[in-house]
Amino acid sequence: MEPILTVTGLTKKFGPLVAVNNLSFTIKKGDVYGILGPNGSGKSTTLGIVLNVVNKTSGSFQWFNGGTTTHQALKKVGAIIERPNFYPYMTAVKNLKLVCKIKEVPEAKIEEKLELVGLLERKHSKFRTYSLGMKQRLAIASALLNDPEILILDEPTNGLDPQGIHQIREIIKKIAAQGTTILLASHLLDEVEKVCSHVVILQKGKKLYAGRVQDILATHGFLELRSSQEDALLRYLKEHQWFGKIKNNNGLITAFLNAKVNAEDVNRSLLEKGIVLSHLVKRKESLEEQFLALTQNTPKQS
Ligand code: ADP
Ligand code: MG
Repeated sequence: MEPILTVTGLTKKFGPLVAVNNLSFTIKKGDVYGILGPNGSGKSTTLGIVLNVVNKTSGSFQWFNGGTTTHQALKKVGAIIERPNFYPYMTAVKNLKLVCKIKEVPEAKIEEKLELVGLLERKHSKFRTYSLGMKQRLAIASALLNDPEILILDEPTNGLDPQGIHQIREIIKKIAAQGTTILLASHLLDEVEKVCSHVVILQKGKKLYAGRVQDILATHGFLELRSSQEDALLRYLKEHQWFGKIKNNNGLITAFLNAKVNAEDVNRSLLEKGIVLSHLVKRKESLEEQFLALTQNTPKQS
C-alpha cells in the first residue's frame, strides 16, 4: 500500500522541553491511524508539524510519495485540530457554501457530506443552535468537502456526552469504510481500540509502540498466581522460559507469558516441582493494561 504520511526522526523542542522526541511512523492508504498518549505527550504538536502550523526542530516528514511540496499535498488533507468555528448566525448550509468558495470545490458536495454526518435534516438551522456534537459533525462535513485523501482529527470526542461520542465514532468508522485514510489523536484507550486499525503510542514525546492495534491485543496474555510457597513459586517463574516480566503485588503474582501456554500446563509443571497453588487464572492483556504497563515503564521485578 502506498504511504500517505511518513514521519522520520521528528523532534520538536520548546526551549528545554522536548515535546516530540525522535518520532518515526508511517501511515499507509486505508489505515485508521491513532496517536495515543496522555495529555502533554506531544500528539497535537505532531499534528501541528505535519500540517505546517508548527515548525519542527529536526527530523523530517513526507506527504504521499514526496513528489509535491507540503503546501500542495495539504490540499488533499482534511483536518480539524481546533474547536469547530463557523458563523453562528448563518445556517449549516450557508457556512458550508462559504467553505466551498474558499476551498474552490463545487457546492454539490454539501448535501452528500451533511448526509454522511447525519445533519441533512438540520441543514437550515443556524450554527449557534447546534449542540457541541452537531458542531463537531459539521466540522467533519466541512473537512470532507474536497474529498481529502486523509482526514486528521485531534481529540474529536472531547467534551461530548456519551451519545455524541458514539455518533462521532460511528461517523469516523463510516468515513474509513469509504476508503478515506484517518489520523486521529486521542488520550482515550477505548477510542483507539474501538476505531483504529493502527496506533503509535507516545509518552513524553517518545514512541513506545507503533503497529497494528490487533497485534497489541494478540499477545500471549498473563497468569495470576498465588501460593503459600511464594519464594519457590517466584524462583520457578523466573527460571522458566515460558515467563517474561513478573510482578508481585502482596503475594498476588502476575507472570507475563512469552509463549502459548495454558494454565493446565503450568499447574502440572508446578505440581511436579512440589509447588501447590491456591489461585491460578489466565488472562489476556487488554490494550488498556498494556498501555498502562507501557506508560508506567515498569521494570522486571522480583
Ligand atoms: P498533547 O496534544 O499530547 O496533549 P501537546 O503536543 O499539546 O500534547 O504538548 C506536548 C508538550 O509540549 C506539553 O508539555 C506542552 O505543554 C508543550 N507545548 C505545546 N505547545 C507549546 C508551546 N507553543 N510552547 C511551549 N510548550 C508547548
Ligand atoms: Mg492535544
